Parts: sequence; structure tokens; C-alpha cells
Amino acid sequence: MSFNELGLDKALLEGVAAMGYENPTPIQEQAIPLVLDGRDVVGCAQTGTGKTAAFVLPVLQRMSQKPGVKALVVTPTRELAGQIEEVAKICAKATSRRVLAVYGGMPYDPQAKAARKGVDLLIATPGRLLDLISHGDISLSHVEILILDEADRMLDMGFWPDVRRILRKIPDQRQNLLFSATVSRAILDVVGDTLIKPVLVEIGERATPVDEVEQKVFPVDVNQKTELLVRFLKHHKPERTLIFTRTKHRADRLQSTLIKHGIKSTAIHSNRTQQQRQAALDGFKQGRYQVLVATDIVARGIDVDGISHVINYDIPTNPEDYVHRIGRTARAGATGIAVSLLTADDVHELKDIERLIGATIDRHDLPGFEYAERRIPHSSEVPRRPGKLVFNGGARRAAQRGFTRTRKK
Ligand code: AMP
Repeated sequence: MSFNELGLDKALLEGVAAMGYENPTPIQEQAIPLVLDGRDVVGCAQTGTGKTAAFVLPVLQRMSQKPGVKALVVTPTRELAGQIEEVAKICAKATSRRVLAVYGGMPYDPQAKAARKGVDLLIATPGRLLDLISHGDISLSHVEILILDEADRMLDMGFWPDVRRILRKIPDQRQNLLFSATVSRAILDVVGDTLIKPVLVEIGERATPVDEVEQKVFPVDVNQKTELLVRFLKHHKPERTLIFTRTKHRADRLQSTLIKHGIKSTAIHSNRTQQQRQAALDGFKQGRYQVLVATDIVARGIDVDGISHVINYDIPTNPEDYVHRIGRTARAGATGIAVSLLTADDVHELKDIERLIGATIDRHDLPGFEYAERRIPHSSEVPRRPGKLVFNGGARRAAQRGFTRTRKK
């Protein structure tokens, strides 16, 4: 597919050429015609996918010729605001549209002066935008298209109250575009109701949704993991529990420990023959074993109904595995509980998982358990790992809210 087929005007195609783009990226291919069509679009995409041009190009074309700010991009950081401005200015070069970015950390007056001169497409960070509004230097009463960029990051950074305030300043009748690496419940709670028949455009891997699963984290010293698990199982007596370990050796070891404690358990992993695996699985399904200990690779294919608990004895290193794991419970409309044992070494992994699912998982202590001295940092105390891939999430959540979905094959 080429840019010529997306429905863009000649002036914008000139902008595309000025950017040096030859062919649209998948998100551009999907989002541009939808935005031109006036649809609300939720783009599950992160920086690097070409999402900026995916909204800038059609927005420049779609907005009316009336005076005032007609398209507003709200973005979390000044770097992003600057980058979007740069792309938008080049894309708008052959049009008569005026583009301006306003953001904090820069002197107020020049931005206010530029804003007063007239802007068609405004790109802003939340705080500075609210300042400009409260000083009467900009009005949002003519906004036709709202673009929330990196919505998940705005949420992470605590901008949501500001975003809500901004939403109150713009007309209800508008087109909405929302871009986020993950589409979490928190995001949809704020903007979900203002979207009109939104189309979900997903780029990249999609994670399985996890809404029906009650998720809990149990912080524990590494030396007390097994003890805590045993206590948990004896205390809660869950009927059908799937426990994950990181390696097959740990699966075997854990299984024998559980048996020693009188907990009926079996294990499956790739070192066991197909027959042994089947026997374990059948025994688990028929209730002969209360617990099945497994590694990720074999667990993917497990289709057992009625699993009440999934326990991450080891937190997975790949955040997507977490979603796959806990998706084993709460099947067919049932609810389920997912418990993750968290040691100090796993906090990075947990942070990645929380980012993927778009929520922080509550931490709990097991009542009556004698905890050793422990110091398990909170997710916010560890930096995000650089270069770590973040996948998309929340697809079912979106679908439940009546989203149409488009997905590149
Ligand atoms: P973004 O996801 O918008 O931050 O874009 C990521 C990078 O991809 C930027 O350097 C863009 O200039 C570049 N880019 C965006 N769209 C295209 C395209 N259609 N062809 C080539 N490069 C692109």
C-alpha cells in the first residue's frame, strides 16, 4: 500500500515526501483512513511505530477552516511535544495550517505570544496548557479533534487530573484519538465514555486480557518462598491450583516439597514424556491432584477448566508470560485468583508486568505468617529497564466497551 491510496490531499502528500517517507507504516495504513473518515480511534502503539504521522497527517486534513485551535494534541513530555511539532510543521508545509507546541520548562511569554497569533494544531503538555488557558492566552472552545498521545505515560506521570481538567475545557462534540502502549481500565474510565464507536488499531503483539482475574502480589524473602507457598496452600486450600516455576528443576523440586507437606501435587515440564504429561494433566483435571506445577513452555497448551488459582512461584521474566499464565484461570466467565511471590530481585520484572497490564498489582501479606526481615522495593523505586519491549494490552477491555477492532495480519 502507498500513501497515495490512503485518501490524503495533495498538500499532505507533499508533506509526506518532505518527511522522506516512502510507504506508510502499519499504523499509518490503518489509522489514516479511519481518522479521515471522522472515526474515533484508539491506537495501541508506542513510539517508533510511526504513530505521530498516523495522526498528524489526517488531522491536518480533516479539521475545518474555521478560526481557532481545531486540533489539540496532549502529550506527557516536552521532548514528545517538540518531536510532534517538528513532524507536524513539515507535514503542514504545503498547507495553510499553523502548528505550535507549548510545554513547560521554557519561558511562558514567547509561547503565550505565539499562541495568541493563532494556531490550528496545538501540541501541549498538560501543565503549560492549563496555564495558558487560565491566563486567557488560549481558548479550546473550538477544538474539533482531541489527540491524547502516550496516554499510559500521562497516567504513570500523574497527569490524569490535568487531563480531566483539559477535557472539561473542550467541546463534547469532537473526534477523539487516543494513543497508548497499553489500553488500561484506568484510561478507559476517563475517556471511554466520551468515545463514539471507537476503532481499536493494534500494532504488534497483543496480550491476553486479564480483567476477570484478581491479582495479588506477596512480597517475601527469597528463602521463605516455599514456606510461604505451603502456608498459603494449607490456609486457603484452593481446589485446583496451577503453580509456575522458572525452570523444570525448580518445578520438580517444588513438587516433591509439596508432596512432603501432604499437598497432592504433580508436575509437567519438557523433561517429562508425553505420557507422563498426559497422566499429570488428567490427574489434575480429575481432581486427584490439587496442584499442578509447570513451566511456561508446556503450560501454554493447558486447557483445564475450573482452575481457581494461578500461583507464580517465580515471577516470569517475560511480561507476556505473566498474562498467558494468569489467563489459565478465570476461564469461561469464572473468576480466578493469581498470586505472585515477589522477592527483591523480581521487582523489575513486576514493573514490566504492571506496565504491560496497565495497572499496579496490590501487595498482600499472609495473615499469621512469620516473615523474616525483608526489604522488597516498590515498583516505583526501581527505574524502568531501558530498551525493554512493552507490549500492548487490554484488548478485551476495549472490546467490551463496544470497540471495533482492526488488526493487521
Ligand atoms: P514515531 O512512532 O511517530 O515516533 O516515529 C518513529 C520514527 O519513524 C520517526 O523517526 C519517523 O520519522 C519514522 N517514520 C514514521 N513514519 C514513517 C514512514 N512511513 N516511513 C519511514 N519512516 C517513518
